[in-house]
Parts: sequence; C-alpha cells; structure tokens
Amino acid sequence: MGQHGSALGSILLGLDGFEVTAAEVIDDEWRLEVQTTATAVGCVACGSQARLHARRTVRIRDLPIGGRPVVLAWRKRVWRCVEPACAARTWTEQTVAIGPRVVLTERARAEACRRVGKDAHAVAAVARDLGVGWATAMRAVRDHGQRLVDDPARLDGVTVLGLDETSFLRATPTAPTRYVTGLVDVEGGRLLDVIADRTARAVTAWLGARPRSWLPGVDTVALDPWRGYASALVAPLGHATVVVDHFHAIKLANTVVDQVRRRTQQATFGHRGRKHDPLYRIRKLLLTVAEQLTGRGRARLGVGLAAGDRFGEVAAAWQGKELLRAVYAAGDLTGARVALDRFYRWCDGVQILELSRLARTVRAWEVEILAWHRTAGCSNGPTEAINLLIEKVKRVGHGFRNFANYRLRLLLHCGVRWQTHRTARLRGRPPVLGGVEPSEEPARLPGAEQTVGPSDSMSCRR
Ligand SMILES: [Zn+2]
Repeated sequence: MGQHGSALGSILLGLDGFEVTAAEVIDDEWRLEVQTTATAVGCVACGSQARLHARRTVRIRDLPIGGRPVVLAWRKRVWRCVEPACAARTWTEQTVAIGPRVVLTERARAEACRRVGKDAHAVAAVARDLGVGWATAMRAVRDHGQRLVDDPARLDGVTVLGLDETSFLRATPTAPTRYVTGLVDVEGGRLLDVIADRTARAVTAWLGARPRSWLPGVDTVALDPWRGYASALVAPLGHATVVVDHFHAIKLANTVVDQVRRRTQQATFGHRGRKHDPLYRIRKLLLTVAEQLTGRGRARLGVGLAAGDRFGEVAAAWQGKELLRAVYAAGDLTGARVALDRFYRWCDGVQILELSRLARTVRAWEVEILAWHRTAGCSNGPTEAINLLIEKVKRVGHGFRNFANYRLRLLLHCGVRWQTHRTARLRGRPPVLGGVEPSEEPARLPGAEQTVGPSDSMSCRR
C-alpha cells in the first residue's frame, strides 16, 4: 500500500487516533496493520519528552469491512523516559478505542450489543460475524448493555403503569412453569423492567426501590386480574386508579371459550381435537370478535357448532365472551353497568362450570373493570405489543436459563431507546419544487427493489 493508499485506508477504517500502515486480504479476511497517530508523548511521571523504546504487536478483531472480517495488527509503542532520575522507565501506550487485553475493539463490542439488543439477533450469529466466541460476544452485550439498562432516566415519565405476567421457563417433568412479571410504560409502549416472580412481594420490592418522586407520577395501573398484584399496589400506589384493561379481561374470556370447546370435544368424540373435527376447525373463529366475522365466517361457525356442540355449551360460552366484550365496548359507565348485569344474568342462566368461574372473577374485579370507563379507556394495547416482542426474543434465544441474561436481552430489545444514525436515501423522490408535488413517479430500474431502506441503501446499483 502506497502513501496515498495508507491515508485512504485510515479514513476508511475510521478508528479514532489510528492510522493504517499496511493492508492485505488473507484467507478472505482483512489484515490491517495499524498504529496510533501519537508520535510524540510526554512521560507519564515527569512530563519530559519520551522516546520510542520498542514495539509490541497485538491482534484485535474489528467491524467487518465490505463484508469481510477484519483483524487489526496493532503495533503498540512502548515508550521510555529519558530522564535517568525518573521512576517511570517504560510504559505501553493505551487507547479508549481498544481496551486492555480484549479481542474486540470497543466499537465492535458496542455493535455486538446493538445487534443482540436492538435487533434481537442471536448471540451466536453475531459472534460468528465478528469472528469471536459466544462468551466474548455475550460479555460485550453485558458490558455495553448493562449501562443502558441501569440508566435511571429510562424509567422517567411513567403515568400509566402496566403489569403483566409472562412465562419465563416452560414446565419440566420436575418443575412447574416459571412466571415473571413485566412492568410496562403503557403510554410510551416500552418495557420498564422484568421481575423474577409474579408475587405481591416481588412487585412491592420493585415499587419500594423507586425514587420517592417516581410513584406520585403514576396515576393509573393497568393489570392482569391477579389478586397478588392488586394487594402489592395498595400501599405505594394507593393514589392510583387500578384498571383491569380490555386486553386482559378478553384474554380470560377467550380462555373460557377454549376450555369449554376442549371439554365438549373430549365428551363428544372421546379424543382431543383433530384437523377434521368440527369444533377444532372453528377454534379460531370462536375467538374472533363478532363484528369482524365475515358472512362466510359466520356460516362456518354455525356449521361447526351444529355438528360438534351437542348441548350448546360452546355457543353459550362464546355468547358469554361477547357479552363481556360489550362491557368494554359500552359508551359510558352507565352502559357498562347495564352490559355487566346482562353478562352476569347470562352466566347464571346457562350454568356452565367454566363460565360461572369467569363470572366470579369478574365480580371480584368489578370495580377495576368498570374503572376502565373512568380512565377514558386506558389501553393495554402496548402491553400486548410488548408481549409479542418478548416472544420474539425468547424464540431467538431458544429459551433462556439465566434470568439476568433474559432480563437484559428483553430490556435492550423493548426498554431502551437506541440512537441510530439516519442515512439519506440514495434514490428517493425528486425534491419538491415551489411546494408542488411532482406528479410523475421517479423512474425505477427494471427489477430493482422498490423501496430502499436505511439498511440496504448502499446496495443500490450504480
Ligand atoms: Zn519521566
């Protein structure tokens, strides 16, 4: 590489305080020889000009260049103090870009954290791309991620707090399913924290650890109808309105429809639902919101029930679910009360075990259910959205064993705001002239991708 080449190489590498002195491709990897640009330094002890004593080469991996893995051979300088009386003698140069005794540059470690955290990529895949082991990649995620997760400002500005249980570990032959509690900023749609338990004590401890000014800011708590949560909230969040939101109530009702369908299936056909069983075929239609059923859907539902629901219990459970939905759909509190009475009367009338149990739960949570209308329909939709993100992280991680890792990965994926560099579009709409939108679409290359997002903007053909 010539002198100009070396300057260009340094620019392309873009590693602060470093320059490239040689570059070659070996085994499809870039081997870059680099050194710092610090040619004159003062002694660390006495300040007099130091002299170059020796060089020591260390090898570190960096971000890929042009899709090729990169190995930096850093020719580290060892400096020596020329003052005979000075105690410093010799020392090796240090930089923030490359930590001591690491195998990855700090920016590659930060990138590992961003990919695993923000993008929810598997640690193994990121490790492979960077040419390091799983443990090295995971250590980078932990070192860079923990700071982001521990930032107290992350929890600022919460007015509607959502509590939700999700499963962490599946049941095994020797242990039951382990649940954790997710705490959600319902308005901001982000995960605040994950607690290793779903007990009142765990939630109380978390609330107790908040700064004094945090709790008064929360005016509404939206939760899963789980008594433990409510009792945990009484003291620290006594001022807040507790709401059982639409999402969780309907989830309970849907579970009842499923239970009755499965019991009827077993009683009628003597086996679990299979592909051609009439009730099994309508299992999803049964959970569809009535207004969203198409004419064909309604007809299929009717046929399935006629063939498989001999005692009309599935239909009755379905009706119960729809009546509970009507409570939430009501325009105001008065309407909700009327709808609730209709729901109770229906459950009392049809006498189905599962539905009666649901009615008891609803009675126990009546105040919180009706509070939905007092808080102008506070929505737990974001909780549902975050549950989907949690499922994604779990799927990528192939099940977690370690709770600390699990919490870190979840919070990095849906609890942290990431700064991302916004790239300009290479081919976009032509500039708007004089405020008039051009009527013609920009010409496209035949067969070219229609949209060019920030991530693939560099793949445009020249
Ligand atoms: Zn010195």
